[in-house]
Amino acid sequence: MDQIKIYNSFSNNIEDFKPVNKPYLIGMYTCGPTVYSFTHLGHLRTYVFEDVFKKVLIKNEFLVEHVMNTTDIGQLTSDSDTGEDKMERQAKRENKSVYQIANFYTKDFLWNLKQLNINKPNILAPASLHIKEQINVIKKLETKGYTYKTSDGIYFDTAKIENYKTIFNQNKEDLKSDERIENAFEKKNSTDFALWKFSPKDEKRQMEWKSPWGIGFPGWHTECVAMAFKYLGNYFDIHCGGVDHIPVHHPNEIAQAEAITGRPLSKYWVHFGFLLKNNEKMSKSSGGFVRVIDLINLKINPLAYRLFVLNTYYRKTADFSIEAIQSSNNALNNLYAFSEKIKALKWLKLLRKIKFTNTKLNDKVLYNYYESFINALNDDLNTPKAIEILWNMTNEINKNLYSFNPVSVLKTLNEFDSVLSLDIVKHKTDKIPWKIKLLAKKRFILKKQKKFELADKIREQITNSGYQINDYQTFYTISKI
Ligand SMILES: [Zn+2]
Repeated sequence: MDQIKIYNSFSNNIEDFKPVNKPYLIGMYTCGPTVYSFTHLGHLRTYVFEDVFKKVLIKNEFLVEHVMNTTDIGQLTSDSDTGEDKMERQAKRENKSVYQIANFYTKDFLWNLKQLNINKPNILAPASLHIKEQINVIKKLETKGYTYKTSDGIYFDTAKIENYKTIFNQNKEDLKSDERIENAFEKKNSTDFALWKFSPKDEKRQMEWKSPWGIGFPGWHTECVAMAFKYLGNYFDIHCGGVDHIPVHHPNEIAQAEAITGRPLSKYWVHFGFLLKNNEKMSKSSGGFVRVIDLINLKINPLAYRLFVLNTYYRKTADFSIEAIQSSNNALNNLYAFSEKIKALKWLKLLRKIKFTNTKLNDKVLYNYYESFINALNDDLNTPKAIEILWNMTNEINKNLYSFNPVSVLKTLNEFDSVLSLDIVKHKTDKIPWKIKLLAKKRFILKKQKKFELADKIREQITNSGYQINDYQTFYTISKI
């Protein structure tokens, strides 16, 4: 298998992946959701890729310790530390407590992960349960002289970090600063960010804590640093997130870590592109976002969305349309029909002792497909190429159905699926009613007796009931139309 290569936003290069601490144990941190609204397909694109990346690492025999936060505190409606707290605002809107809101939307998030076969992180931790750790990070920054106080909180002085403006090779001077920012005049630099915000004097917040600086709550950028330090140590292997974290959130995480440890928190920084709908990023604020439940209501298998995601390279943006997901759904059904056929062949081989030829030789062919599949994924997570290899393999098998050992084919499909997680073999097919099965059997016998007219009539009857017969040389399968 080829060496894993991954694009590191920190160096702007594709690099060989080499663990930093232990040879086989990887620390992976991924920024989680702000749990104030429903998870939509735009968010899920990133989570699907993180899941695939993790599974690729596992396929390469690494153990992965995966940590993810859920933001239930401190994320304001503006990236410039002003505006309302998203959680508190939603709680008011729904007339619920912040904790109820966090609980409800965290459950929704987990349900979505499950629908897309995304494995849960080893540690999924809410920011509100890590206040002590966040206060400790801020204290350390204060002791080292990186903070200053304004009338509304404690801020990080980004001018004290050399190269802050060029992290991820961006030029911060080009970023427009929001002129309407309240309190911004008190910031020393427009890029400075809140570490601790004081509770407003005239308002009691639902989530607020005592701190050495006064009652308030931590700023959004500290929770990931505090949790990463706690669970993965000062410097670990991989930090992931959407490209939307490149301008602000991730440089701010790096700045805090650099200030405390002199290192940029993680060795590899991996970012995933946006999902666009009508040429705009799919987000809550742009409206028109689509959820997994919407796909289910359209009778689309949620895993069709997973396949859709994998069909586009992770660093590119992907264009969402229902038609595109529907075509992925058809492709997924073709994949399921293929594995059903192989399963039928497996039984045929066992029961009817049909001769399969060249199977030994073709075991090697299957292995070659598997190897190029993993090599594609190891090559900067090239999922479109990996999917193409899967299709090429199914095409070759289809052409020589009786020269591949069906057991080996199913095994290989399962190997592919341990990364793709599309349920290729273990999918739940719609149960075929016994009446249809009986008719199909009757038709098969009639065909053998060369009573084709009668056989065709039964086929019509089956089609009218919403099922179709797929004929092969010595057997048939039934599927839903
Ligand atoms: Zn983060």
